[in-house]
This record gives sequence, structure tokens and C-alpha cells, in this order.
Amino acid sequence: MTLTIDCERALTEVLGSDRIERDVALGPMTTFRIGGPADLLYRARTPDELALAVQTARNLAVPHFLLGRGANILVGDGGFRGLIIRSEVGGIDFLDDVHVRAGAGVETFPDLIDATIARGLGGLHHYVGIPSTVGGALWQNLHFLSPAPERARTVFIEEILESADLLTEEGERKTVGVEYFEFAYDQSILHHRDDVVLSATFRLRPDEPDELRRIMRENLAWRDERHPDLWLYPCAGSIFQKIDGIGAGRLIDECGLKGHVHGGAGIFHKHANIVVNLGGATAREVRHLIDLAQETVARETGHELVPEIVFVGEF
Ligand SMILES: Cc1cc2nc3c(=O)[nH]c(=O)nc-3n(C[C@H](O)[C@H](O)[C@H](O)COP(=O)(O)OP(=O)(O)OC[C@H]3O[C@@H](n4cnc5c(N)ncnc54)[C@H](O)[C@@H]3O)c2cc1C
Repeated sequence: MTLTIDCERALTEVLGSDRIERDVALGPMTTFRIGGPADLLYRARTPDELALAVQTARNLAVPHFLLGRGANILVGDGGFRGLIIRSEVGGIDFLDDVHVRAGAGVETFPDLIDATIARGLGGLHHYVGIPSTVGGALWQNLHFLSPAPERARTVFIEEILESADLLTEEGERKTVGVEYFEFAYDQSILHHRDDVVLSATFRLRPDEPDELRRIMRENLAWRDERHPDLWLYPCAGSIFQKIDGIGAGRLIDECGLKGHVHGGAGIFHKHANIVVNLGGATAREVRHLIDLAQETVARETGHELVPEIVFVGEF
């Protein structure tokens, strides 16, 4: 679907003609560094701008997608016909000794983690090294393994979320508590309702900055051994959801696909649930590896692999 001239004119009237960018490459706005152009792009810098952009696109029935850090998506080679609304809502406010409110577009790492550690507040430090905005973190229920040496359980961002300001699917602005999100592993209500996070408030715990930094160094070292360095291997983290506690990576590895390369894309040699861009990969090549992993694992183990990443635009 292409945007009508009338729709485009109405959008620019509300959002400002100087604020709408045309024919913008989306690859550089994703951690995969893959994907064609968006017809239109709007960067929302405040909660009001984000709410206005989404509601205007809804009212005009303009196809739109809300983009955070782009760390859990694959954009198609054909790009996106419609409006990409990039959440760049900033602002980090310490409300009292333990509460911090952050705009939906604030990057949890490094910005929010750095700011809270500098204040001697722990809770977000577990998520060091993971690319995400605040909004994307609530969408995903960001998680990581608890600190070394045990690493016995998974810690989730829901554990420190106090409340969030939303634009709901119905177009209402309201503040909701953590229970609203119905969080689970890689899941929240945001997967099922078209609500938009405008900002979030976290309840943190006072701790020694040096101790928090020590834990962060350990987490980063642990990640470095298993996860791709984004500069060398652009990717979107894990491709498939966990199945009944079995790692999708283990199944793909058992089928002999670890290290398999197709064009510019490859199944990461250290972690088979991650597809990496080895240089110049297309979305089509990544999709080929995703299909191959699904077909092979289904045939050889009987398990169905379900992608956890979001596919955006035309493939
Ligand atoms: C190298 C690497 C390592 C990773 N490791 C981990 C890990 O250890 N643990 C983990 O949990 N994840 C991990 N991930 C996945 C990724 O970091 C998370 O899913 C992250 O939360 C995505 O946030 P984002 O801002 O990039 O969202 P995007 O990828 O931009 O968007 C994802 C979804 O969130 C929605 N969204 C974005 N902002 C909002 C908003 N304001 N309101 C409502 N919906 C919104 C989008 O519309 C989209 O549907 C990793 C990814 C990479 C690339």
C-alpha cells in the first residue's frame, strides 16, 4: 500500500513538515543493520510527540510501526510503506532516593544504567550490554541470568518496574502498575494490545557503585564468551523463543547447523540461536536461515521453533 498525497499532507500538517523525513534507510537504525527504506520517518522526542504521532497515524489509518533501538526486529529488503515512528523520548528523572522515571526512548544500556549506577542504585545493572530502549524493554520483559557464580535464575525487568505512562490502544493516556503488563518470559501485554509506553518508573535498590560495577564486568565477560560483538556481528539477539525450557540454540546445534552460512548471513558459531550479518546480508538471506532452522529442527527433533523477533515491512 502506498500513502495517498492527502494522507501525507495531513500527517505533515499535524507533525510538522520539517520533522518528517522521506525515504530513510532503516538498516542503520537496527542492530542487524539490514533492511530497505521507510517512506516516512518521524522521531518522537517527548511523550506528547510520541502519543500525537501514534494517534494521528491511527486516526488517518496510515500504516505505522513504532521503532525503539531496533534490537529485536528484522526489516525486509523492500523497506516499510508508511510511517516509522522512532521512539527517541528522552529524560531521566530521579523522583526520590530509589525511584527513577525514564522516557520510552532512553537506552537502558548505557544511558539509564550509567545514570543509576552513578547514584548508587542497583536493579538495572543486570541488563548491561543488552541493546534496548525503555519501551522495548517492557515489550520484551528484558531478562538476563542472575549474578555469578550461581546464575541460577533469570532476572526480569518486571521485578523493578513500578509504573508506566501509556497511550492505550483506545487512545487514552493513563498510568498503569506492573500487573497491567501480564509479564512472562519474552512476553507482555504489549504483544497483544496496541498500547504505547511513553515513560516508565523503576524502583531501585541502594548499593555500592563499585560492587554494581564488579557485577556488570562479570556479566559483560560472561556475555562476551557467548554472544556476538555487535560491531563485528550485527544481529538481533536470539531469533527463536525457548521451548518448554529447552534452548532453541541447542536444538539447532544438535541438527548440525551451527556456523552454517548463506550469502552474507550465518548461524553464529558460538550460539546457534543467533543469526548474524557477516557483511552485506539481506533480509531474504536471514529469512532463508530462519526457515532452514525451523524445517530441520521440526524434521529431526519434532520441535516447532517460533521466532521471537518481529518482522517489519516488505520481504
Ligand atoms: C546482541 C543482542 C543481545 C541481546 N540480549 C538480550 C538478552 O540478554 N535479554 C533480552 O531480554 N533480550 C536481549 N536481546 C533482545 C533485545 O535487546 C530486546 O528485545 C530489547 O528489549 C528490544 O528493545 P528495542 O528498543 O530495540 O525494541 P525494538 O526492537 O525497536 O522493537 C521491539 C518491539 O517493541 C515495540 N516497542 C518499542 N518501543 C515501544 C514503546 N515505547 N511502547 C510499546 N512498544 C514498543 C516495537 O514496536 C516492537 O514491536 C538482545 C539483542 C541483541 C541485538
